Amino acid sequence: MSEKQQTENEATEEELLSARVKRLQVPREALRDYLDRMRPGRRCTFCETGLYEAAPAPNGGTAGLVSTPVPHISGLGVWFYSATCTICGDTRLFHANMVRNAMSEEH
Ligand SMILES: [Zn+2]
Repeated sequence: MSEKQQTENEATEEELLSARVKRLQVPREALRDYLDRMRPGRRCTFCETGLYEAAPAPNGGTAGLVSTPVPHISGLGVWFYSATCTICGDTRLFHANMVRNAMSEEH
């Protein structure tokens, strides 16, 4: 692979990644509404006292995203939204694409 091709491939990967992240950027409230719909009251299953709250993105406003790498496949990962209990810290991961699709179907 020439250096030019490699640079072009990286640019394309970068564009794909940006488009993917953009689609998954949802307001924190939208994730909270989704959690409420799936578990009315959002009560923590571990301490049974606190509530699951949608984790914020570092820049605020939108729901935070976490990704985990797929072993042995570079550049591929699984993306999640997370929710943390306000009392004990129990944290749940939600498959981002699945949640995002469910949000699109809601209305
Ligand atoms: Zn808890």
